[in-house]
Parts: sequence; C-alpha cells; structure tokens
Amino acid sequence: MKKFFKITFAALSLVLLAGYLIPERKAMPCCRPSDYNHQSFWHWPWTRGEAGHPHTGVDIFGKVGTKVVSQTGGIVLFAGEYGGKAGNGVVVLGPKWRLHMYLHLHTVDTKAGRFVRPEEQIGTLGKSGNAAKTPAHVHYGVITPIPYVWRLFQNEGTCNPPVWFNWRLMFWLDPADHLPSK
Ligand SMILES: [Zn+2]
Repeated sequence: MKKFFKITFAALSLVLLAGYLIPERKAMPCCRPSDYNHQSFWHWPWTRGEAGHPHTGVDIFGKVGTKVVSQTGGIVLFAGEYGGKAGNGVVVLGPKWRLHMYLHLHTVDTKAGRFVRPEEQIGTLGKSGNAAKTPAHVHYGVITPIPYVWRLFQNEGTCNPPVWFNWRLMFWLDPADHLPSK
C-alpha cells in the first residue's frame, strides 16, 4: 500500500512539473498593444476598480465584434454566460497551470472541453456584463490555482489595496507579463 501512495505521489508530481515546463508565449488576445489600458492592471501600481476593489485584469479596448483569440494553447474550462459583471466569458487552462480569462465578450466561439491553439479564435469583443456602461473591451485576467504564497507579503505600489485583499495576490497575476509590450 505504501508503494501505491509513493507511485501516485510521484506520478502527480511529474504531471504538476510537466505543466510548468510547457513554454508560454506572448500574444495579444485582440487588438493592438496600444489598445490596452496600462493603468488597469490589478497589480503594481495598484488601481481601483468598481466600489474601491482592485481591478483583476487588463482592459483591452476595441470595436464590438473584433475577434478575440486565445493568448495561449490550452483546454477550455468554461465558455458561455457568466452573467453579473463578467457577462460572457471564456476560461482557458494554459501552460504552468494558469487560467486565462476573457470577459465581456459579444459572442463565445468555443466550447468547454475543447483544446485551443495559441491565437485560435474563442470569441468576439463586446459589451456584456458591466462593460455595457463602458467603451467595448475585453477584460483579460490571469489566475494561478496554485497559490504563490510569497506574494501574500508583497506590498508595493502607491495605492495599496486593503489588507484583506492581499491573499488574492497569491492567485491573481499581472496580465502585463503575458502580453507583448509593443
Ligand atoms: Zn476590466
């Protein structure tokens, strides 16, 4: 029995490690790098979204109907209507076990369970959810389901979030790290 647990543990560790070894690539989900709001990251320097909550992604502005592509290869975990602030969205599990979220979509052009290639179309840019009140954009966020514990104690920037938000830092990543700079 001990041997069984050892083998299971080794296998799981290998799968986990393999996920981290898959290289990531930087691509714009849509539009041009100049169309993203550099002030909108939920990261340094801290910005406030609605109701004083830090913003959990980057907003990329464009015309309704502009195609939105997957930033990375991966498995579609969710595709459809979230409702609420998010509107229509797609979530892709990509390399390094990171979840890539695309929200406020006009149309969703993929399905849960499907494998997507980098730059494969997953939807179109829209105004669903709380984007109904703003210019049309894609909200692009990156999450790690495996917490980055060391980030709990990060406290940089000029506009610090409330302390009780710090734990979310372990999960929410700076989407700027996943987009080309030019
Ligand atoms: Zn947003």
